[in-house]
Amino acid sequence: MRILIIEDEPKTGAYLKKGLEESGYSVDVANDGADGLLLAQEQDYDVIVLDVMLPTMDGWAVLKVLRATRTTPVLFLTARDDVSDRVRGLELGGDDYLVKPFAFVELLARVRTLARRGPPRESELLKVGDLEIDVNRRRVRRGNTRIDLTPREFSLLQLLARRQGEVLSRTQIASYVWDMNFDSDTNVVEVAIRRLRAKIDDDFPVKLIQTVRGVGYVIELKETD
Ligand code: CA
Repeated sequence: MRILIIEDEPKTGAYLKKGLEESGYSVDVANDGADGLLLAQEQDYDVIVLDVMLPTMDGWAVLKVLRATRTTPVLFLTARDDVSDRVRGLELGGDDYLVKPFAFVELLARVRTLARRGPPRESELLKVGDLEIDVNRRRVRRGNTRIDLTPREFSLLQLLARRQGEVLSRTQIASYVWDMNFDSDTNVVEVAIRRLRAKIDDDFPVKLIQTVRGVGYVIELKETD
């Protein structure tokens, strides 16, 4: 079982890591929101413990971007026992919360429950034409052909597929998949799209990723004329 702790206070992070490791978990700690998000997107964790007050990106922003592509259970830590904070966290896709300060045994109990529950089932399979994306097992196939994607390509495809039929601008894609504003350098998105196309479209007669000139990209099964 792997846990990611996103917490900027070194003492708290170290204390939680030690406690969870002693309870048999393998633990990574990120000290700010952007680093935490990157790890959460690229690695497979069973549970993420997410502090809300963080430098670079707060916990809400991390949760929002993470939920575009990942269903990993998130336990968020809020400093205030404030109803609006809790509601906001749960609405953004958090699974449970703890109010600081809390007893370690309580955190451990919540983590255990979330780890047992696993990721929610509802978003398991995304389909676009004959393309199938098994979100939880991170497997992609077109018809009978299995397709291997890098984690970044998988995130990009998943984003497009969750919003199928909706045109996403290069800037939108950059901000979700890379969590960055590229401004002028949207070439990064073009390169990534080209690589993804090479894997999911080039060898197939029906192309799924469409370029909308001057706007961006959309994944959809186009009606044939
Ligand atoms: Ca904090």
